[in-house]
Amino acid sequence: MTDLVLSDSLAAARRRLASALAEAGRPPGDAALLAVSKTKPAALIREAYRLGQRDFGENYLQEALDKQAELADLDDIVWHFIGPLQSNKTREAAGRFAWIHSLDREKIARRLNAQRPDALPPLNVCLQVNVSGEASKSGVAVAELPALAEAVAALPRLRLRGLMAIPAPAADPREQGRPFARLREALEILRERHPEAPLDTLSMGMSGDLEAAVAEGATLVRLGTAIFGARRRPD
Ligand SMILES: *Cc1c(COP(=O)(O)O)cnc(C)c1O
Repeated sequence: MTDLVLSDSLAAARRRLASALAEAGRPPGDAALLAVSKTKPAALIREAYRLGQRDFGENYLQEALDKQAELADLDDIVWHFIGPLQSNKTREAAGRFAWIHSLDREKIARRLNAQRPDALPPLNVCLQVNVSGEASKSGVAVAELPALAEAVAALPRLRLRGLMAIPAPAADPREQGRPFARLREALEILRERHPEAPLDTLSMGMSGDLEAAVAEGATLVRLGTAIFGARRRPD
């Protein structure tokens, strides 16, 4: 993708988010754009950064570490880990990211808490929730969310920021909003239980369902294809 095309697609993604917010009756800037750069080269991330984008999401730890090393001069870039996290990879994740969106087990939470370097502020985390039942293997079940949230809220080196979901594609586009509404309701319940936690984030909405997610209150939409184009490698 050339520089010119990236500037067009990033501008289009920003307009798309702005009009989804307006359509939902929400103020401009009420949701932010996370640029999902998995499988894309560091040079493209650098271009997006030059165009003003700061938040980037990566799914594969080693790939992310390689790109971070190449982009070490961009000191205010914000790295989000959004992929499945194995317990033998938590040390790197705890040291190299500002956010983890895919936390779904207490064991991983404890490791991240213990391994977050003292020199860094607490790690922002979202709990990944399985809002699609059997259709998805990742994410904590809605019924188990309160217990996980309670455990995470007690860990001083983690900041419990909110919830994340990747719903199974809806057969009927009119049904796209349902799992997002479920995630919003789950966040509302957690906010009542944990008034002390900064539960301000609903990480939901991707290139195919951004509007439905914003209509249900998304505060951080994760766009890959819409910004960087189709991925060659499957994920
Ligand atoms: C790949 C990915 C995205 C971006 O998906 P697009 O459909 O390309 O916008 C968002 N969130 C997660 C967790 C992903 O793995």
